[in-house]
Amino acid sequence: MATATQAVQLTDSVTRYVAKTRQMLINGKWVDAVSGKTFPTYNPATGEVLANVAEGDKEDINRAVAAARAAFDTGPWSKITPSQRGKLIWKLADLIEQHAEEFAQLESLDNGKPLAIARIADIPGTIDMFRYMAGWATKIEGNTIPISAHGAKFLAYTLREPVGVVGQIIPWNFPLMMASWKLGPALATGCCVVLKPAEQTPLSALLLGELIQEAGIPDGVVNIVPGYGETAGAALAAHPNVDKIAFTGSTEVGKLIVHAATGNLKKVSLELGGKSPNIVFQDADIDATIPGAAMAIFFNHGQCCCAGSRLYVEAKEFDKVVDGVSQLASKIRVGSGLEPTTDMGPLVSEEQMNKVCSYLESGYSEGAKATVGGSRQGDKGYFVKPTVLVNTNEKMKVVREEIFGPVVTAIPFKDVDDLVAKANATEYGLAAGVWTRDIGKAHRIASQLRAGTVWINCYNVFDPAMPFGGYKQSGWGREMGHEVLNLYTEVKSVCTPIS
Ligand code: ADP
Repeated sequence: MATATQAVQLTDSVTRYVAKTRQMLINGKWVDAVSGKTFPTYNPATGEVLANVAEGDKEDINRAVAAARAAFDTGPWSKITPSQRGKLIWKLADLIEQHAEEFAQLESLDNGKPLAIARIADIPGTIDMFRYMAGWATKIEGNTIPISAHGAKFLAYTLREPVGVVGQIIPWNFPLMMASWKLGPALATGCCVVLKPAEQTPLSALLLGELIQEAGIPDGVVNIVPGYGETAGAALAAHPNVDKIAFTGSTEVGKLIVHAATGNLKKVSLELGGKSPNIVFQDADIDATIPGAAMAIFFNHGQCCCAGSRLYVEAKEFDKVVDGVSQLASKIRVGSGLEPTTDMGPLVSEEQMNKVCSYLESGYSEGAKATVGGSRQGDKGYFVKPTVLVNTNEKMKVVREEIFGPVVTAIPFKDVDDLVAKANATEYGLAAGVWTRDIGKAHRIASQLRAGTVWINCYNVFDPAMPFGGYKQSGWGREMGHEVLNLYTEVKSVCTPIS
């Protein structure tokens, strides 16, 4: 097994972590897969194997669901108070904070993202999410309801109860943070979980599993089963004893999840793809907009479901904005995530790199032109240069489909109604950006965009308190904020005559 070349001193525990074969967490025990199989996870900066991980499939999912079921139905979790749940989640956040550097290094090694980004975005975002959700554990309330039935007096009220055993399938772009978006509300509401991390990036979820045990969260409440989507993921989505499935990933797989869930009609929440319009008006503060538009697409190498991947610029400022974004793109230092000078790391896998490069080829074949970047970088590791495509239009694949890489298409506009129609002419509806100094126009356009989040004069601003999710084929439901509690609770109406 190769160790990564690095400019950063890896912590001892990370070195030990990546050098071993890792097991999965079921019912509070670290165990091998029933099949005994393991699968490799790679360092995308080098293409070398980073670690081998127990490969969960149907049998392991069965065991994990049975453990979660028992913990939910009869285990200590079913009797725990909201205040105790809140304390345990807060303790977990404290432990993650104590292990922040280990998590940042694992995330950089496994996913490829710059260590500095993991340190300032992924890890603090994870800690904040758990703390925010710890606060909710004691505030999940129903209502008392005045009812008029039969002209008599009744006391009617609602309870919000945990939905039960939840299967959670997460992606590779923000591995730890996506785990926190899922686990935080599940634990706050009193659910039990089987979590399946993405096969490309299983390591940080396994370290999180160790801390879940250390925090004192009872056995079986959180089970972590790494494995492939078609096997472990599909078994979890179809499992008859799972009450809800929460998924983040591609729209294509989201549809498979919906089909798989029909057997027992489990609840489903989905956070899926996007092709978000980022709209620049000529009255915007252009000097602030250019770096904003660059960050909107190039943050996390464009591997964000909400990436501002369709840049619409009012014609008068089109050349200036495209030149500015292209110049910034040309200065982005692409390299290993562990190099302190790196601004952008490799894409997560060879498959992802090939997919992005084939989109570039498709763009060129339809007449698009790159003002900067436009190809793979080097021949080792999975690097793609930050790219701006012009001469593009809404008929092209590169404008219609989610690329999930550092590629933005830039299109000029003149007429605002036509712009709004084009911005909304997508099967997705996850996010959008609007850049203007005219506040009336900003809010008018925000109201016209069919998207779950609209950023005005900013982009990629996230907070655990602000709901996130998609219109149309970008998903079902909203994560974060108090909205997410609805996804993890059932409402029970209780009614009795009192006269
Ligand atoms: P990407 O295409 O970007 O890798 P995916 O949607 O394929 O994103 O993957 C997101 C998550 O969904 C991963 O954890 C993956 O293992 C899982 N997954 C993939 N296919 C399936 C499936 N058929 N059923 C359930 N989960 C799946």
